[in-house]
Amino acid sequence: MILQGACAILFAVRILHTSELTVPLRGDITNAVVNFAEHTVSLVALVSDQAMGGRPVIGIGFNSIGRFGQSGILRERIFPRLLAADPEALMRDGELSPAASAATAMRNEKPGGHGDRAGAVAAVELAAWDLRAKLAGEPACRTIARAFGRTADPSVGVYAAGGYYYQADSTSRLRDELQSYRESGFEAFKIKIGGAPIREDAQRIEAALDVAGLGSNLAVDANGRFDAATADAYAQMLQPYALRWFEEPGDPLDYALNAHLTASYPGPIATGENLFSANDARNLLRYGGMRGEDVFQMDPGLSYGLGEYATMIDAIEAQGFSRRQCFPHGGHLINLHIVAGLGLGGCEAYPGVFQPFGGFGPEVRVASGRATLTERPGFGLEGKPELAEPIARLTEAAV
Ligand code: MG
Repeated sequence: MILQGACAILFAVRILHTSELTVPLRGDITNAVVNFAEHTVSLVALVSDQAMGGRPVIGIGFNSIGRFGQSGILRERIFPRLLAADPEALMRDGELSPAASAATAMRNEKPGGHGDRAGAVAAVELAAWDLRAKLAGEPACRTIARAFGRTADPSVGVYAAGGYYYQADSTSRLRDELQSYRESGFEAFKIKIGGAPIREDAQRIEAALDVAGLGSNLAVDANGRFDAATADAYAQMLQPYALRWFEEPGDPLDYALNAHLTASYPGPIATGENLFSANDARNLLRYGGMRGEDVFQMDPGLSYGLGEYATMIDAIEAQGFSRRQCFPHGGHLINLHIVAGLGLGGCEAYPGVFQPFGGFGPEVRVASGRATLTERPGFGLEGKPELAEPIARLTEAAV
């Protein structure tokens, strides 16, 4: 039996089936470090014993995009633990618990060595949030907000991320790409740097500013490529443009380089999308030299899911920073709901790239730089046409 709202389930939710589909990212695009043509994502389903409209209620999640699927870890370690668990052990206060699901997924795993495991657990934990929201009959942002004692704001400030390097006509294609984002409601943008000589990157920035207008509408992302000397040279080149932020100048774990830049570059520095755990984030806070205007980009889908991510937010606020400085990496519906639910600064969007996961789909209205979530229960992944076929394949055994 299912009732609406919190504390709704009278009996424990049982996970009857789990499934994973390794989905290739569509597109042959490149940043300063990687080409995405070979990248995959693990799309995960948790099929519950609850039903609505004669169909099983299924939680859907996926891990961080721009890396690789985690089929082996999911099938060999995590799914068997979930299916073997006592259903009561996955419940807290009458609701399915994503935290308990993640803890079950991590049974018998040593601490440390986060790596690919962090993404595999994240896909399951996020699927548990989707399932919990669907069981409550509400959008995930509201479920998340309630779980953390907040009220969801379904209108989220967004920026369009793209501006990758193409094989030919890269600069003119860049201008056209950003113009198409502007015409679809975005007012802020992010482009890649570091994949071309610095003079060419300056030309790319000026082409992007033709569309973005003010520097405060344009961020640039080096994807962790630079050593200290190159980062300094770019910082000098970027400074007159007064950009929105300079993202991931150096290696994600080179906190000394980050601190060097925050001490010398006057504009905002953004980093954190390649951290895998709350302790990584704590070390960034201890040693990275982050300031009040800088941006934290940790990604729940890379780092054990929303529960671990919320721990990072707690650490950020404990150090005197604001959650409004958090803009999670990802650019998809799951992170849009998380931003809305936790009251973060804003959300990345990939409206043109990283299909079938990137962007928010036609149900989410983007206008004047803000995205507005709908009432569709869960993360709303079923409302994104590009995901229809992979979700159908993922769940075909269950429905
Ligand atoms: Mg980035």
